[in-house]
Amino acid sequence: MLKYCSVGSGSSGNCHYVGYKDTNILIDAGLSGKKITNGLNDIDIDIKKVMGIFITHEHIDHIKGVGVLSRRYDLPIFANFKTWSAIKDKIGNIKEENILIFENDNMYEIGDIAIKPFSINHDAIDPVGFSVYSHNDEKISIATDIGHISDNIRNNLLGSKLVVLESNYDKEMLLMGSYTYALKKRVMSNIGHLSNEEAAKFSVELIKNGTEDILLAHLSRENNFPALAYETSNHILTENGIKINKDIKLNVLKRDDTSNLFKVKK
Ligand SMILES: [Zn+2]
Ligand SMILES: [Zn+2]
Repeated sequence: MLKYCSVGSGSSGNCHYVGYKDTNILIDAGLSGKKITNGLNDIDIDIKKVMGIFITHEHIDHIKGVGVLSRRYDLPIFANFKTWSAIKDKIGNIKEENILIFENDNMYEIGDIAIKPFSINHDAIDPVGFSVYSHNDEKISIATDIGHISDNIRNNLLGSKLVVLESNYDKEMLLMGSYTYALKKRVMSNIGHLSNEEAAKFSVELIKNGTEDILLAHLSRENNFPALAYETSNHILTENGIKINKDIKLNVLKRDDTSNLFKVKK
């Protein structure tokens, strides 16, 4: 079965672990190398057994520990060409053979899993989300830092058993909060972040298409809090006749803590 764990989620750093059989990968490494190594230890994964780091986009909360981990553990880094051009001056020297380039919307095999980067809408040079498949066709998907649910995001996320979905901000809190007008506009734009309400509405669609586990992710520190993100989703799911803990599981990923290890059964 596919396994998923979040080592941290939010604007202070993101790192996802995905495993299947003997294959272990990371998606983003936006925390310190030490924090990531310790987080993986919490779920009994040795960083030396990780086969590579897949990068969503160049923002610092997604790449902070990438260079250190690659140098220390000889880890390959996978990113698309434009993202590589945006990160190469930020992550220090990387061994030639550890620089690997993927193309969006293609499927790649690594060990026992297949992984597909898909284009998302965000204010980065060429940002992606990822779907990961096991040999049994179990599928999990990760989509954070998304301005809105585009057709491409929808198509890639539907049919995933587990989805890590951004639930970045509460609209009222954002509008009342201390951000400048320009920043508020950026966050709410089609290339900014996804609100609690948008995440909840899309979750309904996901659940109707077979998703059983929703993990709300990348919460804003200023414009959201875990109980609010949870309650917004809970409310909208309930309105749509979905019962949490009966029909599906809903969890909020913590900013600074390693999550439980989630296991996806077919
Ligand atoms: Zn981010
Ligand atoms: Zn970002």
